[in-house]
Amino acid sequence: MKTSQLFTKTSKTAPADETSRSAELLLRAGYIYKEMAGVYDFLPLGMRTLQNIIQVIREEMNALGAQELTMSTLQSKAVWEASDRWSDEVMDVWFKTKLNAGGEVGLAPTHEEPFTRLMKSYISSYKDLPIYVYQFQNKFRNELRAKSGIMRTREFIMKDLYSFCIDRKQHEKFYEEVAKSYARIFDRLGIGDKTYRTFASGGSFCKFSDEFQTLCEAGEDIIYIDKESGIALNEEVLTDENLENLGIKRENLTEHKAAEVGNIFTLGYKYADALDLNFNDESGKRQKVFMGSYGIGPSRVMGVIAEMLSDDKGLVWPEEIAPYKYYLVGLGEEGNKKAAELHDKAPELVFFDDRDARAGEKFADAELMGMPYRVVISDKTLANNQVEVMNRKTGETKLLTLDEFEHKLV
Ligand code: ATP
Ligand code: MG
Repeated sequence: MKTSQLFTKTSKTAPADETSRSAELLLRAGYIYKEMAGVYDFLPLGMRTLQNIIQVIREEMNALGAQELTMSTLQSKAVWEASDRWSDEVMDVWFKTKLNAGGEVGLAPTHEEPFTRLMKSYISSYKDLPIYVYQFQNKFRNELRAKSGIMRTREFIMKDLYSFCIDRKQHEKFYEEVAKSYARIFDRLGIGDKTYRTFASGGSFCKFSDEFQTLCEAGEDIIYIDKESGIALNEEVLTDENLENLGIKRENLTEHKAAEVGNIFTLGYKYADALDLNFNDESGKRQKVFMGSYGIGPSRVMGVIAEMLSDDKGLVWPEEIAPYKYYLVGLGEEGNKKAAELHDKAPELVFFDDRDARAGEKFADAELMGMPYRVVISDKTLANNQVEVMNRKTGETKLLTLDEFEHKLV
């Protein structure tokens, strides 16, 4: 990619109506565009970053043996009435609309009901189970307050995984595998050291659910971490009884602000009951399917990463999710010619700042956009057959030979 090809431009001024650091930087660097409060577009750089986050999650979901699909965003009223969640009193974030042909539909806030109904067509015997299915899908929630840019929006991307098991035992084994998978995902995304598996309030079949909470000042949740064991609890489950059961002393807890980046739930028979999802066991007896659901918000995760890993100069992306790996700057006529050549070798890895602009302006944009390495080729480095590579995160600078750098581009 070249600056001259990219329609977005960076901006020096912070938008007046954004209070979070991540939103300010993502808007200024041209990663996102604000349509209205709580609704954002992902522009080319932002889209690539989001897709890279999604790809990390996808690889880990596939490694669990889960199958990817896409469910519809328009949802039928009937399927939600079956579980008694169509009413605005029960589900207070619905966006609903009327069909010209008569009747109502909802815009997906989540997908437990449609997945449960779908599986009625495919699950009949114990031999069909377990089934693990997931999707990356736009969700719509009429949140009272949009907050912190893409961290809490009214339209957002969710990875939702659902498990269908023969019993609790089979479910619990998978549930723990998902928890490990989530830990790997957040490690790969560069926020593993700040992300805690956290006891939170559960559904009807389980005392707790597990949230994955990333320590972050812009987060909306309060969690408590036990210094000794590393066990974390959401404030909503901080009771004397729970502390005692977990063997934790209140005085050992530290309080933190955190953002929920994912969560995993034991649903049990709630939806199988509501929608009659059954199977025949080995003896031919009808049994209910035992379910779980597992969410991650890739768009919120992108906001949290931008919030956590940025510095006073701009964004700082981990290599695995950066839109481009190298921000390439050519100085002088020969430097620019060589830079253009190198870019053409690997336009998917290299973002070439080919503007006719001062070096300082290019360096400032390199810092704002947050590509992991800034590479400078000047007439001077070229005379020694070298390029200068600066690590965006550490500021460390190294000289590589042109050959060495070219090898990195294949
Ligand atoms: P929260 O308590 O933050 O509202 P939630 O409990 O409603 O989250 P889930 O319904 O379990 O969240 O959704 C799964 C994941 O989707 C969350 O862990 C989060 O990463 C993401 N998510 C939820 N709501 C939003 C939102 N309004 N904007 C962006 N991401 C969201
Ligand atoms: Mg919510």
